[in-house]
Amino acid sequence: MFRRRGFVRPLRRAFAPDIPPALQRANELMAIGNYNGAAVAFEGLARGAEVRGGPRAPHLYLQAGRARLLAGQAAAGMGHIRHGLALFEARQQWPALHRTGQLTVALLAERGLAKEAQEISDYLKAILPPVPVSDFGSQAAPGERAKPLLPTTCPGCGGPIRADEVEWVDEVTAECPYCGSAVRGEN
Ligand SMILES: [Zn+2]
Repeated sequence: MFRRRGFVRPLRRAFAPDIPPALQRANELMAIGNYNGAAVAFEGLARGAEVRGGPRAPHLYLQAGRARLLAGQAAAGMGHIRHGLALFEARQQWPALHRTGQLTVALLAERGLAKEAQEISDYLKAILPPVPVSDFGSQAAPGERAKPLLPTTCPGCGGPIRADEVEWVDEVTAECPYCGSAVRGEN
């Protein structure tokens, strides 16, 4: 069994790409509950990433949408959410669309936005290719080792890390959806 016996873990930041300070700030605003400020910050980051064709753009739009929802601005939030999901669709990133879509439906339902939750749920049903949900790979297959616990926030940008949302790079490493840092779990 693989163990990092006697291995001195390098600083987590060593794994991180250059983290934009604006992203760290946006995550900070979100964490302290300044949802308006966070929304504005994520909107700027999302637009910038989209213009560059960056891989983080859909995640940043979704985060901008969550911030607007948490600020009580459902219509603005839904605009960003639809756009973020549409970017995944345009890029044919089906597993990411499935994962983030399901989480979005749950968040909307939690916020009492039943109509909006239904809209996204219907959209996902209509758009996702007809493959079994288990093939989307967020769950461990039978016989596969359970995924390790991840830190709740990214060591690079401070963004929220959810095991059911992130892309796993290997058995113990996931990628932060917001900055691309490698986030390592503990077994
Ligand atoms: Zn990050």
